[in-house]
Amino acid sequence: MTAPLIDPFQRAISYLRVSVTDRCDFRCVYCMSENMTFLPKKELLTLEELDRMCSTFVRLGVEKLRITGGEPLVRRNIMHFFNDMTRHLESGALKELTLTTNGSQLARFADELHAAGVRRVNVSLDTLDEKKFADITRWGRLPQVLAGIDAAQKAGLRVKINTVALKGFNEDELFDIVEWCKSRDMDLTFIEVMPMGDIGNEDRLDQYWKLSDLRGTLAENYTLTELTERTGGPARYVRLEETGQKIGFITPLTHNFCESCNRVRLTCTGELYMCLGQEDMADLRAPLRNNPGSDAPLEAAIREAITRKPKGHDFDYSRQTVDGRVSRHMSHTGG
Ligand code: SAM
Ligand code: SF4
Repeated sequence: MTAPLIDPFQRAISYLRVSVTDRCDFRCVYCMSENMTFLPKKELLTLEELDRMCSTFVRLGVEKLRITGGEPLVRRNIMHFFNDMTRHLESGALKELTLTTNGSQLARFADELHAAGVRRVNVSLDTLDEKKFADITRWGRLPQVLAGIDAAQKAGLRVKINTVALKGFNEDELFDIVEWCKSRDMDLTFIEVMPMGDIGNEDRLDQYWKLSDLRGTLAENYTLTELTERTGGPARYVRLEETGQKIGFITPLTHNFCESCNRVRLTCTGELYMCLGQEDMADLRAPLRNNPGSDAPLEAAIREAITRKPKGHDFDYSRQTVDGRVSRHMSHTGG
């Protein structure tokens, strides 16, 4: 048996998030600038390299793979990759294959994703208002995403909505979004906006809506029961007693979740980030590309990287400057 990946703080690494492209068909204002420069294609891991990379992690004990981006479903031939991963689900080594998407291409891919073994998808959606949706995503169109969600549910995929909490933008829609998710039997998680990448003129501190404030507003209408369930990530959950809904809160800036962190992130160029909030990374593309016949050097590089997984991150909004920020975009590391 291959020894599992255990970091210096005795955390077992069982969850890999993989960004398969830095490109996207949207330009969400908190994520990208309007004129993004994307990586040359040769920098990206090929689909075959992604397969080798993920298969090596699975062999080393990763049980959950989340495919993200950029927008994962705009990567050319991405279904090949999902279909390649099906074998790990069938062998039982992989427990879950899932993705985070903006939903724009779901109508096209929902059935194929289900056939590949995907059972849950996270769809990012910040507003139910068509005009506001076009404003916040710049290039996105709400009806297309709603059609994608319909298709996903019809295909048998469980949908979770991820909503970035944005001050002055979706504050007034809080209850509508909650009720809409309830009516469609979808889980809902709110995400606090994070200081990542240069996104042009937007002032991040202006966008920042503390989830503790959002929670306070929710408590005006519902009885909230704190759930003890943790997933090894930054999400905390409450149950709304009146509706029975489970609502998640991802507050990387205001809560320390690092002690139970079980995840690492692979970028589309093969860099492994041991922590979303730190600059330290390991290049896994070189050991992979330079050794087409053997995965041993790649495996050694992964093991070495895991010995460098830090105890926690350094985001800090407490003094009205964005400290502890990291320069890369969310679309690079994968959200
Ligand atoms: N394109 C896909 C999507 O939008 O779901 C996957 C990649 S996207 C980078 C993943 C998640 O990161 C989305 O839910 C998005 O809202 C979130 N995100 C992007 N930039 C963020 C930021 N600066 N702070 C917090 N969340 C962010
Ligand atoms: Fe694209 Fe997702 Fe970033 Fe929006 S949040 S620009 S959909 S990668």
